[in-house]
Amino acid sequence: MLIAGNWKMFKGAHEARAFATRIRHLPERTQGVDVVVCPPFVSLQAALQGLGEESLVRVYAQNVHWELDGAFTGEVSAPMLLELGVKGAIVGHSERRQHFGETDETVRQRAEAGLEAGLSVIACVGETGTERESDETQDVLARQVGVLPRHERLVIAYEPVWAIGTGRTATPEMAQEAHAFIKSLHDAPVLYGGSVKPENALVLLGQPDVDGALVGGASLDPASFEAICLAGAEVAAA
Ligand code: PEP
Repeated sequence: MLIAGNWKMFKGAHEARAFATRIRHLPERTQGVDVVVCPPFVSLQAALQGLGEESLVRVYAQNVHWELDGAFTGEVSAPMLLELGVKGAIVGHSERRQHFGETDETVRQRAEAGLEAGLSVIACVGETGTERESDETQDVLARQVGVLPRHERLVIAYEPVWAIGTGRTATPEMAQEAHAFIKSLHDAPVLYGGSVKPENALVLLGQPDVDGALVGGASLDPASFEAICLAGAEVAAA
């Protein structure tokens, strides 16, 4: 079970350090759950400092470039992240696909390079509301999942775009159906993402093919992030 908090473009260094300090002992209360936070690039180091050397909470970036270095203004490479102590990266988040021209091909390149360099990778897939309404969910998932490499450090996050930051959550049955389909295509663990909060975490995480959650808005508040991780531990112990 993996619970990852995607902080998006929230929390500068000061806030990231304070949050990390508060949750550094959380994994001691959430047996069976790998706890991950994904701060913005500029706050990665502060989060690592707040956690300290002993903490089992891991820090991932929200993106990673496919080259080791080069003329790629605004990008950050896997070796740069590893040098800081960052253990992984999200790739292909729908906000990257929607607003920053990320494609299946760039997602594949980012995932492959990150994994090859030694990072863990959470690769996001998911259909838009229009695609779901026109019955294209499986085609979209097959296309997005189809490009992802096979690797022991790859985790897939199913994030229906219509459920991200909207308060609209996929029903547990919808999540389960999509996760089972993804697992028929790829053998990676699959996280659910899309308005996960303490009130719905238990039932979503309790679905047989849901292996954890990628949490946006509800990961910004330490109390609600802790509550979701505790729900994960309850499911893991069941
Ligand atoms: C996300 O950013 O990956 C996400 C799922 O956001 P939210 O939980 O706010 O819907």
